[in-house]
Amino acid sequence: MMAKPESDYDVVIAGGGAGGVGAALGAAQSGARVLLVEKYGFLGGAATNAQVLAYCGFYQQGPEPIKVVGGVADLVLDELRNLGLDCAPFQSPTTLNWIILLEPEAVKLALDRVLAAQGVDVLLHTRVAAVTRTSDRIEAVTLAGMDGRTRVVAEAFVDATGDANLSLVAGIPCRTGDTNGNLQAISAPIRIAGRDRSQPIDREAIKAAFARYRRNGRWPSARDDGGIYTEVPNTGEMWWMMFDHPMPDLSSASFSTAERAAREAAHDYVALLRSDVPGFENAYLVQTGPQIGIRESRHPAARYELTGEDIATGRQRDDEVAKAAWPMEDHTVPGQPIYTPVGGTGCASIPLDALRAKGVDNLYFAGRTIGADPMAYASIRVMGTAFATGEAAGRAAAAPGQGMGAQQEWRKLG
Ligand SMILES: Cc1cc2nc3c(=O)[nH]c(=O)nc-3n(C[C@H](O)[C@H](O)[C@H](O)COP(=O)(O)OP(=O)(O)OC[C@H]3O[C@@H](n4cnc5c(N)ncnc54)[C@H](O)[C@@H]3O)c2cc1C
Repeated sequence: MMAKPESDYDVVIAGGGAGGVGAALGAAQSGARVLLVEKYGFLGGAATNAQVLAYCGFYQQGPEPIKVVGGVADLVLDELRNLGLDCAPFQSPTTLNWIILLEPEAVKLALDRVLAAQGVDVLLHTRVAAVTRTSDRIEAVTLAGMDGRTRVVAEAFVDATGDANLSLVAGIPCRTGDTNGNLQAISAPIRIAGRDRSQPIDREAIKAAFARYRRNGRWPSARDDGGIYTEVPNTGEMWWMMFDHPMPDLSSASFSTAERAAREAAHDYVALLRSDVPGFENAYLVQTGPQIGIRESRHPAARYELTGEDIATGRQRDDEVAKAAWPMEDHTVPGQPIYTPVGGTGCASIPLDALRAKGVDNLYFAGRTIGADPMAYASIRVMGTAFATGEAAGRAAAAPGQGMGAQQEWRKLG
């Protein structure tokens, strides 16, 4: 009989967004040797690669913010506070939801520091490109980095790639988009500086400018309300989400079209603010991207698929490992989100089986890869919830076979 190859790590995590960081921290706190692999040169996922500058899902909605995500996510918030962000719950004037406002450079640095402090090995500029799988286990991943390919053997793996890239190469069946294959629209938030901050932002003037632009502009916005904007903490910059685009499929050609359209639109929109909206005469575009904001791609098959009804009724379960508290935010129609509230007491249980791959014993899901039907997905994908499902996935991957008692302990609610 051949000897089992010795493991390089206990847990390997693909993807360094909120889900992957939560998983890495959860696994490390459970005593595991952990490797986190991220294809960009920085961590943070959509918060740093797509200008998604608010953590949603940390709080239940309502007149007062009730915190439902704690545990390792608090290590991240504490480090962000050390870097000068206040991380206090902020009620969005547009949606009335409670969020935590972010600044991307602080997020990158905070995540580097927190993972280093917890002893997690991190490989940036590296992709999980292939896996070696037996019938019901993954034995190793092949990493593609700047220096070529490396094979890493581990006891367990977490797919926190958002797009289920590890699951795809592992042969896990994946659903694309909703049950009819429709994908949620992409959006492309941007950052703007140079505005005269002594003047309040005139939403009516923005609306009027875009109504005029709609007549012959190349990229009419689907939003007729001036879009969603806030101030990026500690910078004076304006964060603005005004451009949305349908995604017909997951082809590189469609993503290339969307990326080019988003850049062209950003240019036009800032020029329009400069010419038509008081206070923006000297405004300029600070940044798009680095990439468009991808709301949805593939959903790998999990042992349990959270349902819209679970969320709408606020279903509570004994096998809960994380809580979903963000309203179901559907972006089927670009720029026209529809919110369906979380029912019951304002949060719903996410069970461990939603974090476990169907048919593969040592593969876990974190963040937006977890098992969810199209409605439930519109709630669980936010980054606060992703930290929580990540922590649970990391702890389960580090200590498989723990009883439900241990899982209850993992829920360290803030
Ligand atoms: C326009 C837009 C607005 C949104 N608004 C909000 C909001 O305000 N607040 C909120 O909380 N959520 C928001 N969301 C949702 C949220 O951003 C995502 O659902 C969330 O980031 C999911 O976290 P994640 O860790 O699962 O995935 P991601 O953040 O997508 O992170 C996945 C990571 O995996 C990496 N990766 C992918 N493939 C590989 C590979 N093969 N090898 C190595 N690394 C890989 C990626 O580079 C990325 O860093 C928004 C989303 C969009 C698109």
